[in-house]
Amino acid sequence: MKRNSLLSAARPERRGSPNTNMLYDVVIVGGGPAGMMAAGRAAELGRSVLLLEKNLTLGKKLLITGGGRCNVTNNKPEIRAMLAKYKGNDQFLFSAFSQFGVQDTLNFFNQRGMATKEEAEGRVFPISNNAQSVWDALTRYMKEGGVEIQTGAAVTGLSVDAAKKHINIRLKDLPGGRQAGKTEIIAKSCIIATGGTSRPETGSTGEGFTWLKKIGHTIINNNVALVPIALKDAWAKKLGGVTVKDIKLTSFQNKQKQEVQKGKLLFTHFGISGPAVLNMSKEIGELMQYGEVVIALDLFPKLDYGALKQKLQEILVAESNKKLKNTLSKIIPAALVSAILKLANVNGETANHSVRHDDRIKLVALIKAIPLNVKGLLGADKAVVSSGGVALEEVNFKTMQSRLAPNLYIVGDALNINRPSGGYSLQLCWTTGFVAGSSIREQDSN
Ligand SMILES: Cc1cc2nc3c(=O)[nH]c(=O)nc-3n(C[C@H](O)[C@H](O)[C@H](O)COP(=O)(O)OP(=O)(O)OC[C@H]3O[C@@H](n4cnc5c(N)ncnc54)[C@H](O)[C@@H]3O)c2cc1C
Repeated sequence: MKRNSLLSAARPERRGSPNTNMLYDVVIVGGGPAGMMAAGRAAELGRSVLLLEKNLTLGKKLLITGGGRCNVTNNKPEIRAMLAKYKGNDQFLFSAFSQFGVQDTLNFFNQRGMATKEEAEGRVFPISNNAQSVWDALTRYMKEGGVEIQTGAAVTGLSVDAAKKHINIRLKDLPGGRQAGKTEIIAKSCIIATGGTSRPETGSTGEGFTWLKKIGHTIINNNVALVPIALKDAWAKKLGGVTVKDIKLTSFQNKQKQEVQKGKLLFTHFGISGPAVLNMSKEIGELMQYGEVVIALDLFPKLDYGALKQKLQEILVAESNKKLKNTLSKIIPAALVSAILKLANVNGETANHSVRHDDRIKLVALIKAIPLNVKGLLGADKAVVSSGGVALEEVNFKTMQSRLAPNLYIVGDALNINRPSGGYSLQLCWTTGFVAGSSIREQDSN
């Protein structure tokens, strides 16, 4: 059944109200890459499709992938070679990849006007170097098929009506004044594309797991919990045993700010540990799949750059005849002073009255952001981080159907599939999304 498209407007996203009287062939929860691919494919096959996304825009995480460039896939068209990268999970993935593999992904994007290029280790990017091109291709695909898209629509739960073979999907806070939690959408089938739990600010907050757990699914936790971080910096490893309190850590990838943690840090003979570091480790593990990570250590988070400059100036004036290295150790731990002076390339033997303006600026900048270059997580295999998600035995990979509730489908990061960095995560989204979208036709609507 083909519905009248609500997408005649140029923008595919829509706020307002989905049709609660309609029995949709399929409702997709989550407008990330996997959900968009699934929606586009089901609509291409003529299904009536509603895509629900709680953010006001689709694909928030997609737009930050690959440092904003989006590593779309990895150029391994031969299925076995590709699957060898998903260590331990390859046996599950064969049938799905036989239906939609790497070459299909390249054709899909190329045919939709997005030229691609290959970089080191087979990583494929849009030629535009811009994740927006991927977003554009996907939203165009959905628009062509007539997918009804509802943004600002947070799903709060779902239940399977086995007798009627329907799924009831509850929504929160729908615009239009309907009572929170009382709006229900009915569908013949539902695709869960709510992602995992990394970078929750993008919308991936793990609600999907709560619903799936209730249905009886096993949710595997991410295997990287709270672990210390190994650093490349030799100077830092020499500080083993030194603790700094009330500090701020900010992680960066490709110079883009990622996450902030405040608290205590402990230098160790391999790098750093302590509460602020442990709280950051899961995120660092995720980020390391996509490239180098640097953590900036701010020793004075309560003072902004100007206030710290002023403070340094005052103590240098107050002790104008003393040596810089001795005065600095009054405001920062003595063990860190020589490292900071070395990093700033400033001579600590200089008398305070002779410290040049340039050098003072360099010192303040460093004290606010000492770069710590991450080598890896201690005790975790950085090449393959278990993503966490639904246990693979509980999913039929020929269709992406749940083995516990056949009119429910699970795709993308919601599945517990180990994979390295290099475009392998998004390829899973394209593959599982496409297979789920194709299967709606075969299983539920004929
Ligand atoms: C910094 C970073 C860089 C990355 N770079 C790459 C890369 O270059 N290449 C690569 O292959 N992979 C990369 N990845 C991984 C990739 O982004 C993920 O594998 C991919 O986004 C997963 O897609 P998804 O559709 O399964 O889930 P998500 O992208 O997480 O999308 C899930 C969507 O569901 C919505 N949602 C959740 N709950 C609800 C609800 N209750 N109601 C309605 N909507 C809901 C969310 O708002 C979100 O939009 C990167 C990840 C990160 C964090």
